[in-house]
Amino acid sequence: MANTFELPNFVKNRPRTRIVCTIGPATASATMVERLVRNGMSVARLNLSHGSRADHEGFVATVRQVAEKLGVSIGILADLPGPKYRVGVMDGPALQLQRGEDFTLFARVRKGTSEGVNVWPVGLHSDVKAGAKILLDEGKVELRVMEVVGRDIHCRVTRGGELRDNKAVTAPGHTSTLDYFTDETTSALDFALDADVDFIGLSYIRGIEDLERVQERVKAAKRSCLLVSKIEIKQAVDNLNSILDASDAVMVARGDLGVELPIEMVPGVQKRIIRRANERGKPVITATQMLESMIENSTPTRAEATDVHNAVRDGTDAIMLSGETSVGRNPARVVQYMARIAKRAEKFLDLDEIADRRQAYTHAQDHGVGDAIAYSAVVAGEDIKAKVILAFTESGATPARVAAFRPSLPVLSLSPDPAVGRRLSLRWGVIPIIVDVYDTVQDMFFAGSEMVLQLGLARETDRAVAVVGMPIGIGGTTNLLRVITLPEPKSNVRRRSTR
Ligand code: PEP
Repeated sequence: MANTFELPNFVKNRPRTRIVCTIGPATASATMVERLVRNGMSVARLNLSHGSRADHEGFVATVRQVAEKLGVSIGILADLPGPKYRVGVMDGPALQLQRGEDFTLFARVRKGTSEGVNVWPVGLHSDVKAGAKILLDEGKVELRVMEVVGRDIHCRVTRGGELRDNKAVTAPGHTSTLDYFTDETTSALDFALDADVDFIGLSYIRGIEDLERVQERVKAAKRSCLLVSKIEIKQAVDNLNSILDASDAVMVARGDLGVELPIEMVPGVQKRIIRRANERGKPVITATQMLESMIENSTPTRAEATDVHNAVRDGTDAIMLSGETSVGRNPARVVQYMARIAKRAEKFLDLDEIADRRQAYTHAQDHGVGDAIAYSAVVAGEDIKAKVILAFTESGATPARVAAFRPSLPVLSLSPDPAVGRRLSLRWGVIPIIVDVYDTVQDMFFAGSEMVLQLGLARETDRAVAVVGMPIGIGGTTNLLRVITLPEPKSNVRRRSTR
């Protein structure tokens, strides 16, 4: 019986840059999640620094239910809190701090008053000395350390403002000495592993030691989720190359970067992270305040539209929405704007430049067969004016390799494993499709040919480029490149041995 393949128009028409949406109270319902997907979301992010375990379990179930209903691969990214200091509970809704006042950060648990607040977990007193700057709530309030007495940090308010419970406490330039696994991070990681999410975001990673410790726990839990290192403190920027080499993906976490570094450094650091991720073929997400004003407003500012456009042209794989979709007034409309702006920006994206840099990098690293075949598939596909690249995959490695060379042609990833499809949901330009298990490469070519014709991605006499790893069934091998002139004939006759 002939196979039938379907691909919804909203998948065919979405930008090649992936859109990550943070799910929250504004997007908790299946109806809202479906609207996000139809408007362009590929990955749903859960910010485990906020909300309860029950909330996050609900979000995971809803996203999976919607993905199943629509027949698309939607990845889930669980973002861990990491070793971050926070303000404890207040004696009232908020404190108003005035410039020039004395204010103490206490290690002991006590309700916050005009005298001071508790900061948790315990440890900040070891990280700072007199003269250090401390920022509360991303710099809305600024303190200067006057004296550290035991575990109490006596400060003077240098910028006044409002302070509420649970706001972040940062000492820019001072590396936290906290263990990566704070209680909060450990329980968030346990949740992420239990829920079998596709990506885990590592906040406040300092170097590969933090990453390796999370990798060990993922391995012990026998999970195959991908680790996304968030680059958000100076130490991570300093260790960028080694973090990139050891991570599955990275995030330009501009919210914290803009607090930890002088704000004027952020655009240059964004470009550097994206460039180095592109060279290494690692997916990179550009995050935070991309369409921030749409938390309240119905249209983005000119500056925000320009920011999204520029991130796409910098070469980012994915662009992320935070408060815009988790608590904003019109999440579905924000995603629609983001997709429109990204699609337009892609018309100006210099694919050759990214491909050439990736090629130069793999060449200098004495690249393996897989990258050489992937690069050749992209070059051949363009030379012979093929309509599509078919990347057959066990582990996801083949389509990932192809996408890293930024082909102008659509890349269909064909895998029997839905988890592989979800893990490819962050990859620029890859359309994951779940297919049967094929016994022979000829079956693969035939099914691929049927698929592109049925999906309307090509017509008879057009060409498709197929990339495969052989022997079939072994992940990570990419060693075969074939040009198919459509349609591929079905081979019913199996040659018999004459001996
Ligand atoms: C950021 O800092 O930009 C970020 C994405 O992290 P979080 O949302 O956890 O602050």
